[in-house]
Amino acid sequence: MTETHDVATHLAQVKDRIATAAQAAGRDPASVALVAVTKTHPPETIRLALAAGQRVFGENRVQEAKAKWPALKADYPDLRLHLIGPLQTNKVRDAIALFDVIESVDRPSLAESLAREMERAKRRPLCLVQVNTGDEPQKAGVARADADAFIERCRTEFTLPLAGLMCIPPHDQDPAPHFALLDALARQHGLAERSMGMSGDFEIAIAKGATLVRVGTAIFGAR
Ligand SMILES: *Cc1c(COP(=O)(O)O)cnc(C)c1O
Repeated sequence: MTETHDVATHLAQVKDRIATAAQAAGRDPASVALVAVTKTHPPETIRLALAAGQRVFGENRVQEAKAKWPALKADYPDLRLHLIGPLQTNKVRDAIALFDVIESVDRPSLAESLAREMERAKRRPLCLVQVNTGDEPQKAGVARADADAFIERCRTEFTLPLAGLMCIPPHDQDPAPHFALLDALARQHGLAERSMGMSGDFEIAIAKGATLVRVGTAIFGAR
């Protein structure tokens, strides 16, 4: 799949679609950053995106990222890596060493562990709180009812460098109300970043205020 898939072309198409969606929403296209999601894809494929100028990437597993990214970072020191998948507390040390943004902060035990490791490592990746906007039992993210209190604790108790919020709406629902909810919650808390929208719905997310869109399949093909 990846041998024949033209990464540079698809990347350019996605960027065009982002710009068009931003303009349609009366927004500056520069206010929406593309996080290219590279999970399951090998370094050779990722290098095609790097060669085309892409510098912001997302991975959902710490172990996989640890195997792929140190060599890429050595060649492209200005790239920025986002963790977009669930984080276990026993992987916090590796996550803080490797990632520049942790988008999946979703519980007090994790927030506390992140705060402690940031202090120890003297490295402070930006954090986003993941909100389970659909309150799906199997999904990561803080429950809607607990979101306000958890966001406040991340700031005041754990003093994390909190930059915004992230969500993954339920597969079987219109994502628009979920994006709107995340945007409202971010505004209410004075948080700048809203990470929402994937290959199938990033234009809707941009209409609802996304500042980060996480796109994999539309750039790199099916996994
Ligand atoms: C895989 C993944 C994406 C990208 O999904 P695509 O549909 O391939 O664009 C975005 N966000 C998260 C959290 C993911 O795990």
